[in-house]
Parts: sequence; structure tokens; C-alpha cells
Amino acid sequence: MPQDLKLKAAQKRGIHQLGGDELVGWDEVTQGVILTSFEGDASDIAHKKAEERNYSDFNSYTATVAPWRVIKPVFNRDICIDCQNCWVWCPDSSIISRDKQMLGIDYDHCKGCEVCSQVCPTNPKSLLMFSEYEELDVALSQWPEKKKKEKK
Ligand code: SF4
Ligand code: SF4
Repeated sequence: MPQDLKLKAAQKRGIHQLGGDELVGWDEVTQGVILTSFEGDASDIAHKKAEERNYSDFNSYTATVAPWRVIKPVFNRDICIDCQNCWVWCPDSSIISRDKQMLGIDYDHCKGCEVCSQVCPTNPKSLLMFSEYEELDVALSQWPEKKKKEKK
């Protein structure tokens, strides 16, 4: 599975960037205003599949916040033990995991907070933070070696 895997749903939903020419960015929204997640009647929304829902422009499902990120997590499949720690702790639901197998990062929604890297228990970590502009294959080529335990 490629690292820059994007959910099929993400490709279907016509994802756009908040703060673009036609949209209002979060910093322009009046404080206290109510932003609806869906257009129209949403009373039955829980029973609708994602692709059937009428998302509003302010639903984070349809918008990317990737430009906010300065550093990004890079995932190293070779070391990962699929413990799911990163999936549990990510505050933005940006870890892609299926059937308890870690697949990669949803870079449309990851904000680069580093929590996933901090909670990764492997040695070396299977998630490390790199500059947003670093190529994934270059980042992987720079992965640190396993740290040896210090003798007491
Ligand atoms: S850097 Fe933060 S937002 Fe991005 S995947 Fe890791 S925990 Fe989630
Ligand atoms: S926390 Fe680390 S080892 Fe656990 S699933 Fe995530 S990347 Fe893999």
C-alpha cells in the first residue's frame, strides 16, 4: 500500500482548500456563528453513507487543512507493529487503519501535531516528523537505526 494513499472517498468528495478564493477561511468566520455540517435536513444523516451525505462547505470532511502543516509525519511500514496507538491518539482522525492494520496518513486532514509520533512505541519509531517539503522516499532513506539499550 503506497504511503501517500488517499482514501477513495477523499477522491470522490471533491476535496477543496479552506481559505481559497471562493471560500471563507476559519479565521474569517464570525465568532459565535453556527456552522452547519450538512446542507438541508440532516435528521437522518446517521443512516446515510458518506457519499450520500450533503456536506456543507464547513464540514471538515470536504475541506483540506494540509496547508496549515509545517511538519508532517512519515510512516515506515517496515517497522510498524500495528499496535494502533497512533490511530487511537490522533486528534484529527488522520491515521488510516483498516482491519487493525496501519496503512498511512490522511494528509488532507493531518495538522502535523506530532502526537502520533510521540505515542509510537517501536524502536526506532515507525512515525517520524519531517519537514512538510521533504519527499517521502528521501525521509525513509534517512530513518535512524535501532537504539541499543545503555548498559548500567
Ligand atoms: S501529526 Fe497529529 S494530526 Fe497528523 S496524523 Fe499525527 S497525530 Fe494525527
Ligand atoms: S503507533 Fe507506531 S507501531 Fe503502532 S500502529 Fe502506529 S505507526 Fe505502527
